[in-house]
Amino acid sequence: MKITNVMIAGGGTLGSQIAWQTAFNGFKVIVYDAFDEGLKRSKNFHNQFASLFLKERGAGQSEIEETFDRLSYTTNLTNAVNDVDLIIEAVPENFEIKKGFYTKLASVAPVKTIFTTNSSTLLPSDFAALTGRPDKFLALHFANNIWDANVGEVMGHEGTDPKIFDRVVKFASEIGMVPIPIYKEQNGYILNSLLVPFLDAAGDLLVNDVATPESIDKCWSISMGRTTIGPCAIMDIIGMRTIYQISMLWAEKTNSEAHLKRAQYIKENFIDKGKFGVESGEGFYKYPNPIYQEPDFLK
Ligand code: NAD
Repeated sequence: MKITNVMIAGGGTLGSQIAWQTAFNGFKVIVYDAFDEGLKRSKNFHNQFASLFLKERGAGQSEIEETFDRLSYTTNLTNAVNDVDLIIEAVPENFEIKKGFYTKLASVAPVKTIFTTNSSTLLPSDFAALTGRPDKFLALHFANNIWDANVGEVMGHEGTDPKIFDRVVKFASEIGMVPIPIYKEQNGYILNSLLVPFLDAAGDLLVNDVATPESIDKCWSISMGRTTIGPCAIMDIIGMRTIYQISMLWAEKTNSEAHLKRAQYIKENFIDKGKFGVESGEGFYKYPNPIYQEPDFLK
């Protein structure tokens, strides 16, 4: 199965990273966004990534020029899907938006085209029936900052053709990801299946006044060989709005008191005070020089 032309749907935070990484690794990429504003943002991202790759990632000027030559942008879905081999969908994490997108896409995409979703919390089986090609539909999930956090979690639904699954695993390698095959549908793939309960456990310790954020992070970091930061520092990086949204989502889904208590804690102590984590300069810690990076923190 040849993959030459790739379409990225949604030129936002993740879509722009995936488009850049895919074009940089030799594929022809078209970025499709429903809005001109979305494409403008994507082009801005690509200029930033070009500087980053030149300054910090050892890319040469000619590689950057070739990457731009392989990139194009459109708001016209019918033109975008013309002769496309693979689509990576990164439209907003909203069921109705994704549903509308797949319904429209199914009516214009060539039969050969493989569809993948980068959805973080929804499952391929939520949309498979709308794609008109359930056998060629699966998830290819990236982590933010995809060139450093370069995992590509590949997860099908029950009707995904194993040959298509294997081809997407190979594609993930071809664009510089470490492919992580997942053999059964799982909310949160592997990464978030591990990370979310870990962060929830830290949240419970805080909500129940068991220990301070610093003690929790110190205990974890020291015990893990001083090679990793602690859960409160991780929450700052993810951002308090996302932590809150995830807690609220699960509080509503499962009617869970513990999720609700953690969500309220984050809202009252951080969001209501304008402390959104690293992005706003303060969360559990103050940035850009958080104390957990100081040599004495773990002494
Ligand atoms: P974003 O809001 O930054 O970008 C979404 C883009 O989609 C915008 O440019 C918007 O104009 C465009 N869009 C809106 N409606 C559209 C439509 N109907 N058709 C085409 N384009 C449309 O979102 P994001 O953070 O890049 O997230 C996109 C997807 O990636 C989500 O499913 C999310 O779960 C997933 N994801 C995000 C992250 C992250 O850290 N941001 C990490 C992993 C996965």
